[in-house]
Amino acid sequence: MAIQTVNPYTNKVVRSFEEMTDKAVDMLLAQSAKTFNSWKETNYEQRAQILHKVAALMREKKEYLAKIITLEMGKLIAQAEGEILLSADIFDYYATNAAEFLADKELKPEFGSAYIRCSPIGVILGVEPWNFPFYQVARFAAPNLMVGNTVLVKHASMVPQCAIAIEDLFNEAGAPNGLYTNLLISGKRASSLVADKRIKGVSLTGSEEAGASIASEAGKYLKKSVLELGGSDAFIILEDADIDKAVEWAVVGRINNNGECCVASKRFIAVEAIADEFIEKFKEKMSNLVVGDPMNSTTELGPMSSEEAAVHIIDQIRKSVDAGATILLGGTRSDLPGAFVQPTILTDLKPEIPAYYEEIFGPVASFYRVKDEQAAITLTNDSSFGLGCSIFTQDIERGKRIADKIDTGMVFINHPTWTQPDLPFGGTKNSGYGRELSELGIQEFVNKKLIRISGLSDPL
Ligand code: NAP
Repeated sequence: MAIQTVNPYTNKVVRSFEEMTDKAVDMLLAQSAKTFNSWKETNYEQRAQILHKVAALMREKKEYLAKIITLEMGKLIAQAEGEILLSADIFDYYATNAAEFLADKELKPEFGSAYIRCSPIGVILGVEPWNFPFYQVARFAAPNLMVGNTVLVKHASMVPQCAIAIEDLFNEAGAPNGLYTNLLISGKRASSLVADKRIKGVSLTGSEEAGASIASEAGKYLKKSVLELGGSDAFIILEDADIDKAVEWAVVGRINNNGECCVASKRFIAVEAIADEFIEKFKEKMSNLVVGDPMNSTTELGPMSSEEAAVHIIDQIRKSVDAGATILLGGTRSDLPGAFVQPTILTDLKPEIPAYYEEIFGPVASFYRVKDEQAAITLTNDSSFGLGCSIFTQDIERGKRIADKIDTGMVFINHPTWTQPDLPFGGTKNSGYGRELSELGIQEFVNKKLIRISGLSDPL
């Protein structure tokens, strides 16, 4: 994939970048490994100073940075600004809390004493996607830098200006050379880098295919890996739900980030008693969305991130219809020059239809009508993914009981799956393993070293 900015609103190439040579990458890796030797000796306060400065710079340059996001991948400008603020919050969160999260843990052995010390492990490679170009990097970089690791970031090829802008923020914040390093290289080369002895761990957010490639290299070379992959989140509406509220959240859950969200609500599962009311209201709202220029503050749905992404979605819809699915709304390209797909609702989905199991990364909702609560749980779990799930009910105890039966990494009651710095994020099954954010996210690339002190009089 060429490393270039293509504005998906116009499908015009804005700027192209040269891929780094092997020699350049080797020099950057050497610098990162060298910087690790001094960075690991710094204390939490010194590390926090750099991260707080990065957060402050993000807030200061919010409008400028958000415009780069919107230009490169088509996110609505207000959401792009929100992403910058969320990313700044993540940097501040880890800068403020890392010392507590990584504090020594006293153990109580039978004789003598012992404790666990969290030590950094070295250079960590992050392979990141385009859909949240700042937030995804913040989730990976902030905790690792506070641990005392250094990071190499291979960002998605379609957001090179975002990638460069993040590295610039670190430089401006006074980060030592090699602390945060941007690699302008292809995905394949990122996989082969995992073999390098100087890289001690790898984290990837992206597709199952890229995850499998990185994980197999990590396994081959015995390196720790974390994978945050795709999802096909269910959005369950029970008969006792506040239907109007559920409909409002259903639209947000499906079209937030133009529908290109791993934890977007993708499968809408309504129990028979309220299915007609829900789908009628949901369809009405989806059909009234304002589609257009993502730089315009009144737009509600922008283009897909690229022409290829739009073509792929239309192909998934077409194959699903050929296999028996029914289109309740949309189903085609919008009448605009860029990478647009109409808000779409599919129904009559069965396991043999592609849209039943595949993740659709755009404004396409799959609608299912089921007999009861148990049927909703069974359908929710009939997925190779296990990222998030939403349950709409006014009976919170019922929601919690159902949540217990759902095979996903996150379950939200009366809300689409969402994110904030202090809540863990991650999935099970083909959605990956490991966690980002919260205290759990900082524990992934850490050597939890046991230190045992024995008394001279302890028994042999
Ligand atoms: P993708 O193609 O897998 O790209 C993600 C990153 O992996 C990019 O940097 C890409 O580089 C790189 N890559 C591609 N092939 C690779 C390979 N063989 N080895 C190593 N790296 C490789 O994913 P995408 O389609 O852009 O992103 C959408 C996917 O990410 C969706 O499935 C979505 O659900 C998932 N996602 C998951 C989360 C989560 O937290 N669970 C969050 C956001 C997105 P190039 O750009 O150079 O190809």
